[in-house]
Amino acid sequence: MRFKDIGGLQEVKDKLIASVKNDHVAHAQLFLGRPGSPNLPMALAFATYLNCEQPVGDDSCGVCPSCVKNAKYIHPDLHFVFPVSPTKNITGKDVISTNFLKEWREFLGASPYGALPQWASYYGGEDKEANISKEESRQIIKNLSLKAFEGKYKVMIIWLPEYMHPSAANGILKILEEPPERTIFLLVSNNSERLLATILSRTQIITIPNFSDQELAHILKDQHHLQDDQARQFAHLADGDLNAAIRLMNNVEESGHQLFADWMRDCFKRDFTSLARRSDEFHGMNKVAQKSLLLYAMNMMRESLISQFVPSLKRVDGQEATFIENFSKVMNENKVSAITQLLGEAHFHLERNAGARMVFLDLSLQIAAIIK
Ligand SMILES: [Zn+2]
Repeated sequence: MRFKDIGGLQEVKDKLIASVKNDHVAHAQLFLGRPGSPNLPMALAFATYLNCEQPVGDDSCGVCPSCVKNAKYIHPDLHFVFPVSPTKNITGKDVISTNFLKEWREFLGASPYGALPQWASYYGGEDKEANISKEESRQIIKNLSLKAFEGKYKVMIIWLPEYMHPSAANGILKILEEPPERTIFLLVSNNSERLLATILSRTQIITIPNFSDQELAHILKDQHHLQDDQARQFAHLADGDLNAAIRLMNNVEESGHQLFADWMRDCFKRDFTSLARRSDEFHGMNKVAQKSLLLYAMNMMRESLISQFVPSLKRVDGQEATFIENFSKVMNENKVSAITQLLGEAHFHLERNAGARMVFLDLSLQIAAIIK
């Protein structure tokens, strides 16, 4: 993770970078932000920057050996502590972060904005309450007393310290107060009220705000390939929480695909009874869902052309890919462009508050005629 991978929050980044340049890096920092804020990604980017061998401008270089290892979360001077719970294979005193590192690295790669329930279901411990155990604090001290230094700093990221067992918290107090040389603790928390006052008083608090709607929309567009309009809508609904936005997007995509596929099938079969029923259903959906379905349909139209002409650029997989493969057989360039135009017009009318039932019924009839 590098600073540039986090869209926005320049002020926070500037502050962190300045602390390194001025050689004023506090040895215990608390990255405090709401769930779905980039508090963990920011700590990861900062850890990468701290040990980068040749920072470029205001970011880590991304190519030096240290950055390469940090990108995979395998740098020997980067240590992690996070809540875990017993699983089928790991029980008792073995339930400590070190034994979950493989899953943790995959989790960071897949969803660095994920929350605790997602992490728990990732490693298969969702039925037990996760915490940072007393056993863990012994491990922390052991890990940090290892001499081997590869980078400039040893960095220990403690994710969700509010889940620390009180005896674990007490166990690390001393090391927080007098850390080994060139050792930086980055505590990443969603809730400082649940932290021991003694821990709080030993850390410098870095407040990580949520993304603004604009930043969030930008990220959804850039990194998740949403259209302008759709990105703005999701950003607005998610209220700065990137994790929520991604989950929302996946949900809509999943149900959106089924809706779209069934709808196109009815158009193809010219099943007008079903199409009329569908327009009622469509009418009952909220505005965001209505518009998302149309935007999704436009995406799928584009994909059906791409899969015919430039298969290497194909972005869909799974059930979408199967659908596109079959759909492409009854489609050609002219049909796709005519339908895309109709979808765009329907979207335009919905924006201007036209009655959804009529817009959708009209659209269905025209698509049925075109497909034929
Ligand atoms: Zn580097």
